[in-house]
Amino acid sequence: MGDAVLWSGGSDSTLVLAQRAKHSSRDNPVLAISVKHQELGNDKWVMEQKARKKLLEVFKKRGYYVKHYIIEVRAYESGNPKNWLFSRRGESLYQPAWWLCYFVDFLKDGDKLHLGYHLSDGFWVLNQHYIDTFQSACKLMGKKCELHFPLKIWTKQKIIRELKKEKLFNLCWTCERPQQGKPCERCEPCNDLRITLGEIKREDRLLKAKGKN
Ligand SMILES: [Zn+2]
Repeated sequence: MGDAVLWSGGSDSTLVLAQRAKHSSRDNPVLAISVKHQELGNDKWVMEQKARKKLLEVFKKRGYYVKHYIIEVRAYESGNPKNWLFSRRGESLYQPAWWLCYFVDFLKDGDKLHLGYHLSDGFWVLNQHYIDTFQSACKLMGKKCELHFPLKIWTKQKIIRELKKEKLFNLCWTCERPQQGKPCERCEPCNDLRITLGEIKREDRLLKAKGKN
């Protein structure tokens, strides 16, 4: 029975991986699985790979045992991407279903797959369908695996605070459309991050003013 984490190198999945990796050992490493898919765009993939490389070095220095695997998906959806299923925040809603099924091959009977979906993710719109699809795929493969969502009731603010505490925040990559190796500051994840960092700043200032910090 082992731990596996779906890992992009972004803030949510990196926090989940760090949390699981703390319990890892040479005999019981954490499996970190990344998916390379055309939907990600090559620039984003390159930046995520750089982030993951740095993070893996840090994890190693901290004595964590992480085995990293990449699943490369060469599927090409037909039709207009605008007609794909999206959440209100613009996340692809069909993506979790096929991501989960690709992992089944990597998992052993009894493994636990941890995912970094948090409170405001679109995942929860269809979560029961994703979970059922995953469980059916496991059943077909003759495996019993568990899905875990450790950030289910976490806000983005809490995630960022925790990553900062763990000294991992600056190593993560979240931007969808990198511009010459720098975040674009315009895409949805960049906007989210800017808003969250602003909220954290404001909250800290208030706490300080109240003398609680
Ligand atoms: Zn961006």
